[in-house]
Amino acid sequence: MKPVLVPNARPYLPDRTVFERYVDGIYERRWLTNNGTLVQDLTRRLEQFLGVSNLLLVANGTLALQVALRTLCARPTVGSRNAVTTPFTFVATSSALAWEGVTPRFVDIDESTWCVRPDMIENAIDESTVALVPVHVFGNACDVAQLETIARRRGLSLIYDAAHAFAVEFGGGRSLLGFGDAAALSFHATKLFHTVEGGAIVFRRSEDLDRARKIINFGITGPSSIEELGINAKMSEFHAAMGHALLDEYALNRDGRRRVWEAYERGLSSDIRMQAWHPQASQNYAYFPVQFANASQRHTAQQAMRSHGIEARRYFYPSLDTLPLGESVSETETSRRLADTVLCLPLFHDVPGWAIETVIREVRRAAAS
Ligand SMILES: *Cc1c(COP(=O)(O)O)cnc(C)c1O
Repeated sequence: MKPVLVPNARPYLPDRTVFERYVDGIYERRWLTNNGTLVQDLTRRLEQFLGVSNLLLVANGTLALQVALRTLCARPTVGSRNAVTTPFTFVATSSALAWEGVTPRFVDIDESTWCVRPDMIENAIDESTVALVPVHVFGNACDVAQLETIARRRGLSLIYDAAHAFAVEFGGGRSLLGFGDAAALSFHATKLFHTVEGGAIVFRRSEDLDRARKIINFGITGPSSIEELGINAKMSEFHAAMGHALLDEYALNRDGRRRVWEAYERGLSSDIRMQAWHPQASQNYAYFPVQFANASQRHTAQQAMRSHGIEARRYFYPSLDTLPLGESVSETETSRRLADTVLCLPLFHDVPGWAIETVIREVRRAAAS
């Protein structure tokens, strides 16, 4: 088997001297974690860059979801709790819920947008439901207006898994991250913007931000006061240093990805099915998923690319309703079909030209087979 020459995702590493300049500051201050200067500055920078307020940096995207849930769904309920969510996502969306003692309740996704279907949500809600947890999958905006209406009408928290939605704008200039009671982001190494490991929560209300700030630091509020049950979910100064250096080069990263994304689109859009993008949402060039007509075509394409050392990945597989994580309250046929037929093509800022051409050729060939 050929070695992997072109991985599916390749972490962006900023110019080393730029990164080291931030690290030099850490050595001077000797303040390594616990809301240091770089974490505070990165918080302000990201709020400005993304056009949001009430942003809290945390240790990773999974804890971002868990802390958001703790903050917003703390009111005691009798018996077991559940949250309505999508099965077509990374396992962390559901495992974060299950870890917090909230059972994921799966409803199916829309076959063109691949986001959760609002019309199926209402039937899945019962007296133990505490939240809706939709995912802006591959950065595509959910039907935010409908989801908001349902959450308000039923008195539920609305927590978006926005791990893929960094820098997506909605409705002309407004950040998609400003929707919902909270939006959870992942800054894992393979994501569009990263801090090696890291994440953030964008809250609608500042009271929730204040509460979450205590929760991520063991519930400690002063030298001798611990107000509530907390956890350690803080971001360190070294991780924040990576975030600063990446933000300095964000345009380079994005423009490189855009070049690859647009080449794929030119070469493939007439031959293969793509995700239907929300007409009011901007593209962030984080992923390029394609949908084959059946599993056999998908397999053929994946093997053909692999024979050239190019790695295309099945995202998201398996459909999470097939794992013992939660419960299905409806058919999840579309999610299962997409889990079988969708491939994410290699996307990072410097995918080589030969690989782009090979990907296009092999995907078209498989799709025509
Ligand atoms: C990456 C990802 C997460 C988890 O983020 P980590 O930072 O790796 O913990 C959660 N949800 C989705 C949809 C993701 O892609």
